[in-house]
Amino acid sequence: MLNDYMQSFASAREVNLMLIKEAKENGVKVVGIYCTFCPEELILAAGAIPVGLCGMSETPIAAAEETLPRNLCPLIKSSYGFAVTDSCPFFHFSDLIVGETTCDGKKKMFEIMRDLKPVHVMQLPQVNNTKASFELWVEELRCLKDRLEKELQTTISDQAIWKAIEVVNQEKRAIKAMFDLNRADPPPLTGMDILTAAWSRSFSSNKGVLIDNLNVLVQEVVNQPKNGRAKAPRVLLTGCPVGLGTEKVIRLTEELGGYVVAMENCSGYKTLELQTDTKGADPIVALAEKYLAIPCSCMSPNPYRLELLDRMINDFRADAVIDLTWQACHTYNIEAFEVGKLVKSKGLPYLHLESDYSNSDLESLKVRIEAMLEMVEK
Ligand code: SF4
Ligand code: SF4
Repeated sequence: MLNDYMQSFASAREVNLMLIKEAKENGVKVVGIYCTFCPEELILAAGAIPVGLCGMSETPIAAAEETLPRNLCPLIKSSYGFAVTDSCPFFHFSDLIVGETTCDGKKKMFEIMRDLKPVHVMQLPQVNNTKASFELWVEELRCLKDRLEKELQTTISDQAIWKAIEVVNQEKRAIKAMFDLNRADPPPLTGMDILTAAWSRSFSSNKGVLIDNLNVLVQEVVNQPKNGRAKAPRVLLTGCPVGLGTEKVIRLTEELGGYVVAMENCSGYKTLELQTDTKGADPIVALAEKYLAIPCSCMSPNPYRLELLDRMINDFRADAVIDLTWQACHTYNIEAFEVGKLVKSKGLPYLHLESDYSNSDLESLKVRIEAMLEMVEK
């Protein structure tokens, strides 16, 4: 039965593609996004569908490298490659692209992407605890609202934003509840299960349906008899975003006998505790507060990531931490030093992996992950 539910998440991309195509034919607008800093509530409040466009395939990278430097993060090259080859239907359907000035590679790539589609770039501050950075971010949200209204020929009311905030808050609670199932020992869901379910939100055409599916999945797991999975090392994954198509570290860890119990990255738990406060007077200010708190490595300093990781190691009873950096991602690569210190201070094995989207390093990844799992078993 559980497999049936997981199958519905696994086929979400294809199903939603058809639904989004139909919606487009009926005049609904689509907005492409690349990052968890994008306040998708404003897109929902505009009556449009937000779709995640982060590239998770090696296939279009060669085409991207005709324009972009080779020594750039594969996520950026893959994202641009899909766009420039017009091989991602979700990019094709997008009426507007929203980007943010997160890392250097991404913000410069968005400048080039403007030749392909209308692109709106939000200027993200690099500190999140000063009055000036907060005011800048509030202003950036207001600019995005104006651009959405102009580009999508609509008006966004405060009431619509509050409604969208409620939906996204519910969605985050539902995904968090799914992740939290894996605090149990043994964990009821595999790392691939949680990745598949969480990743399906990127292209969900109807958040109500997604929330219902997640809630049903959680109830199904809660009601099933305790699973008989054997004892095995519990691994927490952190670092750069991972999606369906770039899951090789999760897959290898599980093939080698470990359990990936949770992911702290932004396709995982990073934003799940952040709920937009619904008691204020101005929904834009409420959204700015939530989004500026996201503990991405592009923030300097970024203490909340370490606090979150510390708590997750305890809550998910992690025996080891794998920190995955995509090649040329300087911010996560350098932050790995602090992450390693934290994990080692808790007496746990820490493995920092640097990789790309190819399969050329599968054997060396395997050897290193296997050695780390053996350290747990000792
Ligand atoms: S890691 Fe940071 S920049 Fe990259 S998608 Fe996540 S929040 Fe955005
Ligand atoms: S993985 Fe790193 S370099 Fe790549 S887009 Fe995200 S923050 Fe930028």
